[in-house]
Amino acid sequence: MAYQLPPLPYALDALEPHINTMTMDCHYNGHHKAYVQNLNKALADYPDLQRKRPEELLISLDSIPQNIRTAVRNNGGGHVNHSFFWRIMAPNAGGKPTGKLYQDILSQFGSFEAFQEKFEATGLARFGSGWVWLVVNKEGKLEILSTPNQDNPLSDGNQPFFGCDVWEHAYYLKYQFRRGEWLKAFWNVVNWQAVEEFYSQAVAKNLSFCP
Ligand code: MN
Repeated sequence: MAYQLPPLPYALDALEPHINTMTMDCHYNGHHKAYVQNLNKALADYPDLQRKRPEELLISLDSIPQNIRTAVRNNGGGHVNHSFFWRIMAPNAGGKPTGKLYQDILSQFGSFEAFQEKFEATGLARFGSGWVWLVVNKEGKLEILSTPNQDNPLSDGNQPFFGCDVWEHAYYLKYQFRRGEWLKAFWNVVNWQAVEEFYSQAVAKNLSFCP
């Protein structure tokens, strides 16, 4: 198989109580695994594409044969987004970033609290399933944006280095319809050290989320 489910960097119960064990189990062993399987299925007859990093597939979606493009967009996106998501979280995490990222957030949003407020509001405003992201945009500036479904900002030329899953499967078993509570709880599990590493990659336009 070309693509594989990456190991979860912590135990299924490690992010309790903010993300409960059943949510993590269904999300990782159910949803993420299915995205990987369906991406492999879509690319079964395309060995040249199988050799690409999954991020590359999303950067150049227009070059994917039309008959498999939607499957690659959805399942390649699902694979990349979740590989990224597991890595920007950790137990005993939270707090604030330091260094350049913190300074750049202050310059762009005024305060860390104003950034958090805008990030939560953008996640809440996504109708249906999708993601909220912090990206380096095409002008090289920090921008909060949201994408539907499993679309990744890489497909629009943006460089995502922080984000949150706002699909119902990410929070419904614990928070039910209260997406706002999920977005607030999420700050407790953010691994800012990992985010800062991805920020450097984003600035260099060299993001790598999947092993
Ligand atoms: Mn998800």
